Amino acid sequence: MEIRAAIARAREPFTVETCELAPPAAGEVLVKVEACGICHTDLTAKDKGMGTPLPAVLGHEGVGRIQALGEGVRGFEMGERVVMSFGACGQCPSCIEGGPAYCQHALDFNLFGRRVDGTSPISLGGASITGHYFGQSSFATHAVAASANLVRLGEDLPVALMASLACGVQTGMGSILNVLDAGPEDTLAILGCGTVGLAAVMAARIAACRRVIAVDLNDSRLELAATLGATDVVNSAREDVGSALGKLGGLTLAFDNTGVPSVIEAAYGALRPRGQIALAGVAAREARIQLDPNRLMATGRVLRGTVEGDATPRVFIPRMVEWYRSGKLPLHKLVTTYPFERINEAVSDMLSGRVVKPVLLMPSL
Ligand SMILES: [Zn+2]
Ligand SMILES: [Zn+2]
Repeated sequence: MEIRAAIARAREPFTVETCELAPPAAGEVLVKVEACGICHTDLTAKDKGMGTPLPAVLGHEGVGRIQALGEGVRGFEMGERVVMSFGACGQCPSCIEGGPAYCQHALDFNLFGRRVDGTSPISLGGASITGHYFGQSSFATHAVAASANLVRLGEDLPVALMASLACGVQTGMGSILNVLDAGPEDTLAILGCGTVGLAAVMAARIAACRRVIAVDLNDSRLELAATLGATDVVNSAREDVGSALGKLGGLTLAFDNTGVPSVIEAAYGALRPRGQIALAGVAAREARIQLDPNRLMATGRVLRGTVEGDATPRVFIPRMVEWYRSGKLPLHKLVTTYPFERINEAVSDMLSGRVVKPVLLMPSL
């Protein structure tokens, strides 16, 4: 079928073009996309050479309705509304053990944007292009999505707000609640206050952390973090992160989503004995962190990485929906909507810091 999709080419604006979309293969569904969030990973894939072959149809925070079911898909019906979370095969040891973010095919789906067999359902001008990004490629009017990480949504839920649950909000909340297992005794620093960091602040409030320190370069983001539950803020453009965190009394937990080595090292250095730091930011390719192994050993600290907050979307997204319904997840404070064809304006507003989470609304044909 013919679809309209935003084509990504390196360091060029997106162009919305007509493409061909193949029918869903076994284990896949066809989704009429209603909304899709833009995540920094989409822009890194387009402009910074993460290994995603271009041209590509990106987009990995899609919400829409199922229009066709591929062979063998169970548990979903035509017409149902779903959120499309990250790609996973559903069959490898990581998927079966409840760690789909570490699926053995994660690179195929989420970085290379292709099926496990190397194919893509999207072609442009007769040539196959990258069209299964994060198992979906949902910067488009329609997507053929892997069913393993689809999650059903209630009809009453606002599609634009739910899109952010697919990746960014899930990553932030999951990192605090699943990975760091934060609780009332914790003093937690959150480094970087985009969607992921602000979702982490909301999670820290749910976990009733004693002290939540938000760190960012942008005062308006820090003000927003304070309204969402941060007890202290540090503007890292004006203050040295290490000494500011030290003054606040030492951390039991830290969560980095900046990927900036100097920030990670400063937060690591501010951890109390047995403190833990989790890293979720995409760093520059050449980035390296330096730490003294003797100090790591002697302090009993934990340094670890995480993808998608270690979440199993089918378990964690319904939990986030419940928090949303009970008012604990004010997603409207993060989301700004744009018509699909204004994708480039949405991107530039995100990069300038004017908006936190742009969400594209697809035409309802
Ligand atoms: Zn898997
Ligand atoms: Zn993402």
